[in-house]
Amino acid sequence: MKNSDPIYVTRPFLPPLEEFIPYLSEIWAGKTLTNCGPFHQQFEKALCEYLGVEHIALFTNGTLALITALQALRISGSVITTPYSFVATTHSLLWNGIRPIFSDVDPVTLNLDPTKIEAAITADTTAIFPVHCYGHPCEVEAIRKIAEKYDLKVIYDAAHAFGVEDADGSILRHGDLSILSFHATKVFNTFEGGAIVCPDLQTKQHIDHLKNFGITDEVSVVAAGFNGKMSELNASFGLLQLQHIDGVLTRRREIDSRYRILLKDVKGIRCLGKSGELVANCAYFPILIESDYTMSRDLLFKMLADRHIFARRYFYPLISDLPMYRDLLSASRSNLSVAGDAASRVLCLPIYPDLRDEQVDAIAAIIKRG
Ligand SMILES: *Cc1c(COP(=O)(O)O)cnc(C)c1O
Repeated sequence: MKNSDPIYVTRPFLPPLEEFIPYLSEIWAGKTLTNCGPFHQQFEKALCEYLGVEHIALFTNGTLALITALQALRISGSVITTPYSFVATTHSLLWNGIRPIFSDVDPVTLNLDPTKIEAAITADTTAIFPVHCYGHPCEVEAIRKIAEKYDLKVIYDAAHAFGVEDADGSILRHGDLSILSFHATKVFNTFEGGAIVCPDLQTKQHIDHLKNFGITDEVSVVAAGFNGKMSELNASFGLLQLQHIDGVLTRRREIDSRYRILLKDVKGIRCLGKSGELVANCAYFPILIESDYTMSRDLLFKMLADRHIFARRYFYPLISDLPMYRDLLSASRSNLSVAGDAASRVLCLPIYPDLRDEQVDAIAAIIKRG
């Protein structure tokens, strides 16, 4: 591999430019640029069909969708969540004046450990806020039972989980709401974008009002909403991206399998996730560097970077270690020992549709050599 050929952890998928031109021509001709125009409507419908869900509300980005989802269900007090995620998960609680309660993750899935949730519930807890980290599904049934017992809402941050299915269909049908991100770095992108998956039309309509200033008609404003609407440019691009997503997912699965085979017998390297009955999206390729590997995670990270292979330490640092959260009682390292250990060992390897087999082989060879 040439040194001048850097490899990043992810690269956005873009369809051939000429395929986007007809969409642009239509926008230019119609002059509807936003406010839930024709492409917005078509994209919502097409997404529902592709994902196998009932209702979707599109957003400017995933973070505004998370903030709105918590607003829509009037979540308040405290919420149980994972420290092992992207900061937007916990930030969206703060934007709603909600106190996060961090609970530890499961050592195999690195998702919220259901056996630890009950002990974290307090008198003012109103919801559980798990993340399908890396697109690996949470233990949805165990979480549902706890929520039912304590009368809590469940909102899934499904930013990584586009297209993931369990034995009965889309993973997005679990919980009260699920949130997607279509950011450039995600499996499915609209440059920037996001969505809330809703179980019923009434909730979707409420969310649609919230993302449009709370306006319901020309003379009525029913809530202090904000502007979270996806533009026609992003929505039309999403429609085009949907035509390519199956190919994107197939290529990601090929790369995932290739890494797994190449790294199978490397001492001290554990590949996270598994296939089985589940339809995975291979959004990330996280490995854990165990203590019997030839070097630490940070040394491996540096060794790869020296060869212009830019893996990422997702998720490090833990959200609970950041200045705005670390003084919370639940942020203590003793409460989050599994998450803390994972954050110090994890490395996400490059995975994206344009990554070539020989690049995967070269990355695996460097790791194998140690
Ligand atoms: C990307 C991401 C978000 C935020 O989505 P944006 O569309 O970038 O605002 C939220 N949660 C998780 C887990 C993410 O990875």
